[in-house]
Amino acid sequence: MFRRVLIANRGEIALRVQRTCREMGIETVAVYSDPDRNALHVRNADHAVRIGPGPALESYLVIDKIIAAAKATGADAIHPGYGFLSENPRFADACAVAGITFIGPPADAMRALGGKISGRRLMQEAGVPVVPGADNISVDDFATAKREADRIGFPLLVKASAGGGGRGIRLVQRAEDLENAMRASGSEASTSFGDATIFLEKYVSPARHIEVQMIADAHGNVRAFGERECSIQRRNQKLVEEAPSVAVTPEIRKRLCDAAVAAAKSCGYRNAGTVEFLMDREGNFYFLEVNARLQVEHPVTELVYGGVDLVALQLRVAAGEPLPDLDAPIEPTGWAIECRINGENPYANFAPSVGLIDYLQVPSGPGVRFDSMLFEGLDVPVYYDSLLGKLIVWAETRPQAIERMKRALKDLIVSGVDSNVPFHLALFDEPDFRSGDFSTSWLEANFKMPEPPADDPRLETALIAGALAASLIAGSSESGLTAQGPTRWVQASRAQARRGIRVEGGVRGWRRGIASR
Ligand code: ADP
Ligand code: ADP
Ligand code: MG
Repeated sequence: MFRRVLIANRGEIALRVQRTCREMGIETVAVYSDPDRNALHVRNADHAVRIGPGPALESYLVIDKIIAAAKATGADAIHPGYGFLSENPRFADACAVAGITFIGPPADAMRALGGKISGRRLMQEAGVPVVPGADNISVDDFATAKREADRIGFPLLVKASAGGGGRGIRLVQRAEDLENAMRASGSEASTSFGDATIFLEKYVSPARHIEVQMIADAHGNVRAFGERECSIQRRNQKLVEEAPSVAVTPEIRKRLCDAAVAAAKSCGYRNAGTVEFLMDREGNFYFLEVNARLQVEHPVTELVYGGVDLVALQLRVAAGEPLPDLDAPIEPTGWAIECRINGENPYANFAPSVGLIDYLQVPSGPGVRFDSMLFEGLDVPVYYDSLLGKLIVWAETRPQAIERMKRALKDLIVSGVDSNVPFHLALFDEPDFRSGDFSTSWLEANFKMPEPPADDPRLETALIAGALAASLIAGSSESGLTAQGPTRWVQASRAQARRGIRVEGGVRGWRRGIASR
């Protein structure tokens, strides 16, 4: 097994990988940009190396800096997390050249799957159904595109072969809109991924996003850990994921897992990966893409497959060990749901929000897991994606998991940045969500955010507590709380937080204040 692993990532996923390393007796090396220097992943690591300023292009995406950090600290393996360099075959190559194990698939498999077009070709050869489409479309050849579009039929999607995170996808309802959609998709792909290659796909609707977690070892064994349901999306980005899916029967599950195993075997895949499918009402499914890495939503799989640690399996197969328990059947138990907790304002069209976390209350209790980068005093930087953490629950049944999630969401208080917690709370009261009757387009077509409450009493309490604590620190009288009323105190707290005064004491400090009055 490895002695020291460098984690080439930040945020909740860097912490997630560190936890498993620690349990396995492996030392961890963190890398960090300047705005991340006080981040938890840096504080918790055994070693930490600065890799540059905030922009990812000057830090987390610079292959040479990561390799140099690994060499300087004597790391024998690198875990890439998700995003950043995780699906970059040149990074896997650079690790190999430096004699460092890359904890992920071989660069060749990544190349074969990295482009959606080449992935589609591979899957067709392996007998896995793909969405009907046209792969040989040049971004400025509108005549060919129109012919192919007529063959496929409208509506259709223009998609970027290099796409990820929902970028480069354009829905086209009518032939006359095709040209503009191709231009838009091509230029977005070129800016985001440095590759303007596009293709056309039939728009499957209504459809569910169903994906299968698989993992392959270096001895030819591949295991599939059932499905995840990821149809709750906004702008083609997942917000809520569950395992299993209400729409997947044991018979469909078997076919999905067989397809995922065939996909892995078609390209000599190794390590963890996810095969994404669209599934229609009749249970027909079509290959979308392979995500050649650990995924954001992997915890829901861990919770319904007996607490399997997917990161531990990644480390083991990367070190050459065979997958364990190959003869044991894999069946899901109970129900798991994950909410992505993003720093964004659901009342303002999900505008991103950053700032200083001045109060945090974290949910806990049976069946509750909170994987996050948050702590009181964290200054959330502007440079990275909006994921602050993930709230994951497990219960015996889906209705119980929904109630548990609502409880846990109410227990989660994040102050200082806006979060999408109110969105999740509203979603979990929607009849269609509760009955499981939704598709990938359901959220955008049917969900409307309720009006914001006049004030959130939980936050009010928390901020009063913070204000009181801050005023005590500043030496002013606590009787001011009744004399001035809560609103003034809330404002005081925010201003103090902005000035960087760390608010101590929390609700307990506030209660003490009440008791002594
Ligand atoms: P998942 O299927 O795991 O939810 P996402 O597509 O949401 O994957 O992406 C996971 C993370 O990776 C997000 O932080 C996203 O911003 C980032 N990401 C996805 N695709 C790319 C890409 N091509 N380049 C850089 N970052 C990406
Ligand atoms: P990304 O790499 O950005 O994750 P995907 O190909 O996985 O791109 O698609 C992201 C989402 O876009 C899917 O989960 C689905 O909601 C929607 N989508 C993609 N392709 C289709 C399609 N052919 N028909 C309907 N929806 C699609
Ligand atoms: Mg995808």
